[in-house]
Amino acid sequence: MTLTKDSAHALASKLAPNGLAFIDGKFAAAAEGATFDTINPATGQVITAVAHCGGTDVDRAVKAARRSFDDGLWSRAAPEFRKEALLRLAELVRANADELVVLESIDSGKTITDCANEIGREVPNFFQWYGELADKSFGKVAPTGENALALIVKEPAGVVGLVLPWNFPLLMAAWKMAPALAAGCSVLVKPAEQTPLSVLRLAELAQEAGIPDGVLNVLPGLGETTGQAIGRHPDIDIVSFTGSTEVGGYFLRYAGESNLKVIGLEMGGKSPFIVLDDADLTDDLIEHAAMSAFWNGGQNCSANMRQLVDRSLAEEFAHRVTVRAKAFRVGDPLDPATNIGAMVTAEHQTRVMGYIERGSAEGARLLTGGGSTGPGYFIEPAVFADMTPTMSIAREEIFGPVLGILPVAGMEMALQIARDTDYGLHATVFTKDIDRAIYMARRLPCGTVSVNGFSEGDVKTPFGGYKRSGSLARDNGTEAMDQYLQTKTIWISTAQPSVSL
Ligand code: NDP
Repeated sequence: MTLTKDSAHALASKLAPNGLAFIDGKFAAAAEGATFDTINPATGQVITAVAHCGGTDVDRAVKAARRSFDDGLWSRAAPEFRKEALLRLAELVRANADELVVLESIDSGKTITDCANEIGREVPNFFQWYGELADKSFGKVAPTGENALALIVKEPAGVVGLVLPWNFPLLMAAWKMAPALAAGCSVLVKPAEQTPLSVLRLAELAQEAGIPDGVLNVLPGLGETTGQAIGRHPDIDIVSFTGSTEVGGYFLRYAGESNLKVIGLEMGGKSPFIVLDDADLTDDLIEHAAMSAFWNGGQNCSANMRQLVDRSLAEEFAHRVTVRAKAFRVGDPLDPATNIGAMVTAEHQTRVMGYIERGSAEGARLLTGGGSTGPGYFIEPAVFADMTPTMSIAREEIFGPVLGILPVAGMEMALQIARDTDYGLHATVFTKDIDRAIYMARRLPCGTVSVNGFSEGDVKTPFGGYKRSGSLARDNGTEAMDQYLQTKTIWISTAQPSVSL
């Protein structure tokens, strides 16, 4: 990253962010003229007013998306055409990375270092990877007798709604847009109300990259209006959602009460970080423990907040994680030296602080952190020892920098506590014994298990949850593109000349 604190602030002061909706290739105010303010969480100041799209806007975007889908300019184009456009988009994101990084940071409170990792590297990589996949996705031929040829072909599924969270605004857009567009679908994106600006800027770049009008629409707005209108629209074929388990449930209801659209859900988590008794407490392990919890200020669905550590190691582990937590610098998100930026809103800061108070009230021992500072919405990373499985900090998704350490007596106890949750998104296991690693990985009911290092995987590996963390749908990997494709069988009867021997 070339940005410094001074250059990031200079760039931030020059930005004139666009808050208009993007429908059918044009930026426009909401039909009713409604707006809402987007706030910089590091200062509490309004950045700009943003269009609040209502049912009329959603309907207009769906009509544009359906028209573009039926026209076939994108959906039935040669896959190379979609590939080239997505590769151009990847390059445009790279070329405009500094602006997007600063825009994302002021809108979300995320550090520019995290934004640069996501936007400078991962976001373009997603457009590139799925662009490349567009012309490498083959159908199948089923085994039949000679009287038939049975083709199994994939077709774009239609009009797709993508409803996004605020914790990785542009990255989540890329996770979902890239495979949906590569598949040939037309798309409506609803960014989270807290973080609409980077996705609106991406829409401009997508147009410049040659994605035809109507194929990509961005509808900022509030969940109960814009999100619900997408969920209930009778002409949307698929909704892919990332956010809370509660709202994921609403989308199932919206689908049931409208057109039975397919709903893909990626929701919350309460993921364990398990250290078995044979693990070495190396600096690397401690770094993974701290980063798994505090990366992105803990505002991460796969954050490993339940740290289940064999009791023979728990005391030293707690001491060293505490030392590491104290070294995190909390503050100005535009300073590359900052490790943890602001919580996304004042309400969220209050909610997280409530969990820190409950942790102490329920008997956990606060080893460090847990203070809040202003005028932005900052929280110092908190480490609790002596957490027990029934405490609220052990059971509920906090979505902030609150790590709890729970000593366990052996592998089976770790497994039993790790499994005792409604969620099933992620788990990390540290052990030197490959047999124990595989045993744990097989028995942990979650979508991703990482061994001897915290990782969500990458663009090539599917990501999603078991239980209330998700549906069978997956982001990332070839699996993500599959969920935006229909499967069609074409059965061709072939008249065989009669054979005389
Ligand atoms: P939500 O689930 O409320 O929001 C996710 C998306 O759904 C946003 O675009 C939101 O719009 C939209 N939405 C909200 N309400 C409705 C509704 N009634 N109908 C249709 N769409 C709706 O998450 P929050 O952002 O409020 O965060 C709350 C908690 O959810 C967090 O503290 C965390 O526990 C969890 N979460 C999990 C995430 C994950 O990665 N799995 C990501 C974000 C949050 P709007 O922005 O206007 O509310």
